[in-house]
Amino acid sequence: MAQQAWSFKAIEQDDLRYWGNDGYHDNSSVFYRYDSFVANHKNVKEGDIVIVTNRDSVLGVSIIDIIATQSTIKKRNKCSHLDCNAKKILPRKTIKPEWRCDNGHQFDVPRVLFEPAVEFIANYGEYYKEITDISISQLITETPRYNGQMSIQEVNLQWAIELLGSIPADVLDLKAEEADNDIPNLMTDDLRKIVERQIKQRRGQQKFRDKLLKSNPICAVTGCELVDILEAAHIDAYRNDSHNHISNGLLLRSDIHTLFDLHLFAIEPETNSIRLSTGPLQHGYQQFEGANLKIKHKISHSVLLERWKKFNSLKEK
Ligand SMILES: [Zn+2]
Repeated sequence: MAQQAWSFKAIEQDDLRYWGNDGYHDNSSVFYRYDSFVANHKNVKEGDIVIVTNRDSVLGVSIIDIIATQSTIKKRNKCSHLDCNAKKILPRKTIKPEWRCDNGHQFDVPRVLFEPAVEFIANYGEYYKEITDISISQLITETPRYNGQMSIQEVNLQWAIELLGSIPADVLDLKAEEADNDIPNLMTDDLRKIVERQIKQRRGQQKFRDKLLKSNPICAVTGCELVDILEAAHIDAYRNDSHNHISNGLLLRSDIHTLFDLHLFAIEPETNSIRLSTGPLQHGYQQFEGANLKIKHKISHSVLLERWKKFNSLKEK
């Protein structure tokens, strides 16, 4: 499938469209959560470009590294009239009764429905680049079918590629590869090339990965020695001078890398031991709980501490 570009509107807690209260709203530079009730959820795919925004400004641009899915139950507020199919209901600040639906019904308390849904987590922290000089109106101009109500919308691919363009070439092997063509066209790439590209993106920047392999060529968690599926994970996704220093890196088996990206495990900074959250603990990863990292290089205490705090704050929610 051809590469596309999307805008993701980061939903804030005070946003009327915000359904849950899961505390992930502050993480828009790493990943974006949406579910099967959101328009375009079927079209967004790994390798697509995302432009992350909130309601007022454009925040950053990146490439989707991986999309994780899980089934979930969504709490949805509906019009209190049983036979009303209104898509939207809105609370009002001053008028009583508080709620009003699209069809004009007014009521004090919405009817609560629990519906099965699929939740998607698109991860793009690895290549995230902050943007400060693009306005929402520019974004709107580059959104052919703009609709202010939608949180995921398709944007002009060429424009998005240009925004991505100033990511340093050594960060994205992919960009260097494409530098020969004026307009990268994934349409003409055969599937094999796309798969290779995704593996390459996933494995991480080559020099960074090579340094980690040289230090100790095994997965820091599982001890897996199959180099083909070992990936260079950044502990801190933020791009600073030491971003590609191995003190900011771990070599991880691909599935462990995904768990790390999703903050489903972390490293206890004082002991370098592995701590898992409930999901992986209950689903086949329990043997790694409490084990020490299998590394021969020193990792930065301060970046571990940041991840550790994040891990614990997400666990409490
Ligand atoms: Zn209604």
